[in-house]
Amino acid sequence: MSHIYLGCHLSVSNGFQKMAEEAISLGANVFQFFSRNPRGSKAKAIDPDDAKRFNELRKAHDFGPPLAHAPYTLNPAAKEERIRDFAAMAMSDDLVRLSNFPGTMYNFHPGSHVGQGVDAGIELIAALLNQLITADNKTTILLEGMGGKGSEIGSRFEELRRIIDRTNHNEYIGVCLDTCHLYDAGYDIKSDLDGVLDEFDAVVGLSRLKAIHLNDSKNVRGSHKDRHEKIGQGELGLEAILNVMRHPKLRHLPFYLETPNEPDGYKEEIALLRAHLS
Ligand code: FE
Ligand code: FE
Ligand code: ZN
Repeated sequence: MSHIYLGCHLSVSNGFQKMAEEAISLGANVFQFFSRNPRGSKAKAIDPDDAKRFNELRKAHDFGPPLAHAPYTLNPAAKEERIRDFAAMAMSDDLVRLSNFPGTMYNFHPGSHVGQGVDAGIELIAALLNQLITADNKTTILLEGMGGKGSEIGSRFEELRRIIDRTNHNEYIGVCLDTCHLYDAGYDIKSDLDGVLDEFDAVVGLSRLKAIHLNDSKNVRGSHKDRHEKIGQGELGLEAILNVMRHPKLRHLPFYLETPNEPDGYKEEIALLRAHLS
């Protein structure tokens, strides 16, 4: 297989240029990073010089789209208004800062309805998106498909569809599928990847699919636990992950590892996957 965008989650704490250099040293040509500290509210201002050097590196090394991941602590579907307002504030600030990086995508967990029910949760998520997406929006916003832990919304393709349908400017909305989450949600990507992709296409539409998180899973199909495992050491196994990467309907997408690894471990996984795909 000729060209593939493969990388991993990295820390942005030393700036964007350093993050791109680290990606290159790991054999990656894409990467994901947290848009802000998962616990803190204050995001670091973006240094325009750093942004410029980063954008030059991106071009020179033919990087795929950087993926900013919103803190998983945000809950746009929360019951308490204060928690929803915080999510709205953080996400709108993220989108302003990300406008320095054309082509970056912004991924978020749709949220947990915490007992209000799926319908109410979906309305709240769509309301937030309608507030966030302005006419001059530049960033593709991705709903991440979830494993269905607790009251998480977005573990069924139908729920992602309903959020998209309720969003006015949904031309800016895409989906990120996570192999661990899919399996956890009950989708059998190990034995019937074609069937799962047909179902996704029928419900959401494959043209919405913009990114894949590559993770093995510590748990069996349908567990709803969301415990990522290193590639080849979980219930999915190496072959299932390779089948995802090789699939004609998926192989053009950027793949981001979120396995429990330090940079050295990511380097090994990237090398292992690239060796099998070449
Ligand atoms: Fe995620
Ligand atoms: Fe993920
Ligand atoms: Zn996860």
